[in-house]
Amino acid sequence: RPRVLSGIQPTADSFHFGNYLGALRQWVDLQDEYQPFFFIADLHAITVEQDPKVLRDRTLRAAAQLIAMGIDPERSAIFVQSQVPEHAQLGWVLQCLTGFGEARRMTQFKDKSAKGGEGAASVGLFTYPILQAADILLYRPAYVPVGEDQRQHLELTRDLAQRFNSRYKKTFRLPEPYILKATAKITDLQDPTAKMSKSASSPSGIVEMLDDPKVSAKKIRSAVTDSDAVVRFDPETKPGVSNLLTIYSALTGRPIDDLEAAYEGRGYGDLKKDLAEVVIDFVTPFLERTLELLDDQTYLTEVLRRGAEQAGAVARATLSDVYQRVGFVAAG
Ligand code: ATP
Ligand code: MG
Repeated sequence: RPRVLSGIQPTADSFHFGNYLGALRQWVDLQDEYQPFFFIADLHAITVEQDPKVLRDRTLRAAAQLIAMGIDPERSAIFVQSQVPEHAQLGWVLQCLTGFGEARRMTQFKDKSAKGGEGAASVGLFTYPILQAADILLYRPAYVPVGEDQRQHLELTRDLAQRFNSRYKKTFRLPEPYILKATAKITDLQDPTAKMSKSASSPSGIVEMLDDPKVSAKKIRSAVTDSDAVVRFDPETKPGVSNLLTIYSALTGRPIDDLEAAYEGRGYGDLKKDLAEVVIDFVTPFLERTLELLDDQTYLTEVLRRGAEQAGAVARATLSDVYQRVGFVAAG
């Protein structure tokens, strides 16, 4: 079976609806047809300062959330990035294949370093897309399920794979991004043209999977919309309402057209109230399941250990090909 691979950063206590609808739900769906590798990107997390204790805690919370949403440890390798050292090792080789100007063109660095200024940002934040390319290429996956914000990094990954293949010998498979158009960019409830983000959204703009469901419902009811009060999907002129319709449709499976028809002649209040209920029904069992899993840290650690073992076997084989092709002398 062809492989799929993706990762998520343990940079918050909870994943949010953008993570879930944009990426994680596709991870769950792809498990059946593909051989899945899913990792918690702690190496990426430290591109900005992290409290060690909090990072450790969030890494286990991430594992619990992945399992609670349906990633099955019997079918999928779930692992922590730092436990598979080949990520960092291949990352270095790929850094040496990347042009400085090429790295500079990555827009996430511009966005993420905007706050403190480029001078204050770490070199790791600058080079993280190259580490991400290594994360992916090690597993030679067919697809990488991600949100729209990762498209540019997937392009870089393909460029680097191609460059390595033509400079040395065909080693890497060129991976395709797997991006679902409908939910590729879930936006901030308070700033509906911006992406919902763990690190950039305000608390009221982000719906967290592990929030108190009542709090999430309230956030939905207070979402920014517009003044014309017509429930219509039009991301250009009505980004707030369109985002709510996107979330509603994704959680219920009801097509957007149906929802538009159902709310014709009714105000935004009804739409928000009903969506708030849908959200409560969706997050409540998820929250319970996650808390249960967090009570059994021995189990979580064991799942991650097994995941790292499975991932490590694949990663070691790829890295060994790479080292040999680059011209490194094998240890005797
Ligand atoms: P950070 O702000 O720390 O970068 P994040 O919210 O972007 O956090 P990541 O861990 O960087 O989360 O991304 C995990 C996955 O979620 C990626 O595949 C990313 O494309 C996807 N994703 C993140 N935010 C959204 C969003 N608003 N809509 C759709 N997909 C998203
Ligand atoms: Mg991100």
